[in-house]
Amino acid sequence: DDEDVNPSVSPQGSVPSSWGETKWGDTASYNAKKKLQSWYQSSDGNWELAKILSISGNESLISFSEGKVLKVKSDSLLPANPEILDGVDDLMQLSYLNEPSVLYNLQYRYDRDMIYSKAGPVLVAINPFKKIPLYGSEYIEGYKSKSRDSPHVYAIADTAIREMIRDEVNQSIVISGESGAGKTETAKIAMQYLAALGGGSGIEYEILKTNPILEAFGNAKTSRNNNSSRFGKLIEIHFSETGKISGAKIQTFLLEKSRVVQCTEGERSYHSFYQLCAGAPPHLREKLNLKSVHEYKYLQQSTCYSIQGVDDAEEFHIVVEALDAVHVSKENQENAFAMLAAVLWLGNVTFSIVDNENHVEPVIDEALLNVAELIGCEADNLKLALSTRNMKVGNDNIVQKLTLAQAIDTRDALAKSIYSCLFDWLVEQINKSLAVGKRRTGRSISILDIYGFESFDVNSFEQFCINYANERLQQHFNRHLFKLEQEEYIQDGIDWAKVEFEDNQDCLNLYEKKPLGLLTLLDEESTFPNGTDITFAAKLKQHLKSNSCFRGERGKAFTVHHYAGEVMYDTTGFLEKNRDLLHLDSIQLLSSCTCELPQAFASNMLSMTEKNVLGPLHKSGGADSQKLSVVTKFKGQLFQLMQRLESTTPHFIRCIKPNNSQSPGIYHQGLVLQQLRCCGVLEVVRISRSGFPTRMTHQKFARRYGFLLLEHVALQDPLSVSVAILHQFDILPEMYQIGYTKLFFRTGQIGKLEDTRNRTL
Ligand code: ADP
Ligand code: MG
Repeated sequence: DDEDVNPSVSPQGSVPSSWGETKWGDTASYNAKKKLQSWYQSSDGNWELAKILSISGNESLISFSEGKVLKVKSDSLLPANPEILDGVDDLMQLSYLNEPSVLYNLQYRYDRDMIYSKAGPVLVAINPFKKIPLYGSEYIEGYKSKSRDSPHVYAIADTAIREMIRDEVNQSIVISGESGAGKTETAKIAMQYLAALGGGSGIEYEILKTNPILEAFGNAKTSRNNNSSRFGKLIEIHFSETGKISGAKIQTFLLEKSRVVQCTEGERSYHSFYQLCAGAPPHLREKLNLKSVHEYKYLQQSTCYSIQGVDDAEEFHIVVEALDAVHVSKENQENAFAMLAAVLWLGNVTFSIVDNENHVEPVIDEALLNVAELIGCEADNLKLALSTRNMKVGNDNIVQKLTLAQAIDTRDALAKSIYSCLFDWLVEQINKSLAVGKRRTGRSISILDIYGFESFDVNSFEQFCINYANERLQQHFNRHLFKLEQEEYIQDGIDWAKVEFEDNQDCLNLYEKKPLGLLTLLDEESTFPNGTDITFAAKLKQHLKSNSCFRGERGKAFTVHHYAGEVMYDTTGFLEKNRDLLHLDSIQLLSSCTCELPQAFASNMLSMTEKNVLGPLHKSGGADSQKLSVVTKFKGQLFQLMQRLESTTPHFIRCIKPNNSQSPGIYHQGLVLQQLRCCGVLEVVRISRSGFPTRMTHQKFARRYGFLLLEHVALQDPLSVSVAILHQFDILPEMYQIGYTKLFFRTGQIGKLEDTRNRTL
């Protein structure tokens, strides 16, 4: 008997079975019944479907489809959904919301190339790692005309456009997930839809062309993803009153600079280097003194020079075409490529010892001469900048000679700065081309594609920043889906069982609290001349040991309890990466160059000093330390981003990576489960299903549907009109609640009204 299996939404807003209320991973006792399909977790951690044959005491005899029979503890079983629910679109429709049921449902769909599913308001996208026929004009038409309605990125983009027009509120599409989960592809698919619906002015073509440029300069092959974005991106697309795209603006976050000068075996540096070396036409090759990729030391650190299935020369032409499309002049394109070549040649600059104190000077060879020529400076000036440092001691200027290690650091810092400035400069050029004429609010859709939560064997400064960003985004997600929801019910006098959710404010406090938070302590230690990674770690332990989200570890490490789990950070390199110093000598070298770009880079860097950004009264300790620290700048960007997102109606897409080998058809339950936990998918389903997700003010409801009334109730108050509409359309009493100011509906209830409205209009 399976009388307690109820595929429909239960009327009182409660979840149909006590199992549904259990938390993730909680195998609460299972009231096992004979003949029922159940989930059994085998020793490898995977869940298998089994049928209960008999029950005695607290033990059950179960059989698997292949005939095997097993005696197990009844409370180790979890209920499975009836077959008619196999592969439902929306996890909300499942009767049992336990882990194996959710995993199975997603897998069932994934096996049939249905990579998109809904978890209440959230779209879950599982990376297919192969081409699937779900895209293109036929599908775009289908979603636009509503003849297709299965979960899809197109459907999300469509809702965003409609809500933007209907409510005149800016929209955002927030895409998250691990590296390789499909965020960037998903963002492109969303852009494709927006471009198709809002196209006409031609600017949509330019917007799509920003992708190959940003990917060339900001993506690289890593062990997790052959085309991994090494920066975060927000693209804000603006629309005119008629719903046509009028412009766009791109903001990027935290490009991984270290990749320019160091690269792990099996990975590559940024695509742009390989593309240039493979695809540059002869005249450019000659002008930039280009060699093959194998000749450059920065690229030689990994034996990986090519990516299977990718033709770098062809990609180069695609990038050039894209640069043309966003109106970067041929001259500027060549200037940009010259910077790439300069970075590559910088890596080949070597040093020789010149005195008995181990001081060095660069060897004057092809590499050094090429760099000087490419950036437009005298070889002697370059030589000086790479081997000496000017310091002010009291009123005297002292010239310090550099040791080999210092000289290499100086060289690499210059290479990293040139590259990241080039990246920022490109974004600036793109933004100029896409510039929104008159800034109008209420008519934009922003797409956020930002690195998801990361936890590796060794976690460094980058993970520290990325996970901080994810804490902020998680709070935004929580706030919208849980808090606001709950508050709104309470405010409007709706009876709604409170739903618990994890609040991550404690962890955010750990990062942000002043004066004793992770960020402040890091900045403080970064400005101490004698600060090291060890003293930094010790300070953290000293000041934060009582914080429940923090744990000091042995040596230079510390652990943070993030919403998605604990991560241990190794402080090695934290201070240096946070300071991200380019010595004044190097900046001065760039500003003295005859070429346009190095000059522009130098003035950009000088304008980013604390003095200019935070005002002249801000404390400053010598020229080098005036620069804003990386975390301070990042925190500022993040706050700005959150502010911007808060003023939009958000739409969330959670991308899931089904395996670590980038292969099609492989679904690792454990891996998927861990990601579902990290992004709170099950919590969302639980809350949405038990609530009334659709809501409208009495006024709006009366205005929107009042004209459909058969009997005229004009001149009546909005509430009476609303009630009359509800009656006329036979909306069942358990499907809505009437609040003080708004009407609240269960999922799917408004559809009938909207359909009639659309047919009548
Ligand atoms: P992320 O940005 O999350 O790191 P990507 O968007 O770069 O991940 O996706 C990684 C790879 O997965 C892509 O290069 C592509 O091969 C594959 N992929 C992702 N989404 C899709 C999709 N919808 N269809 C086909 N392949 C996809
Ligand atoms: Mg990406």
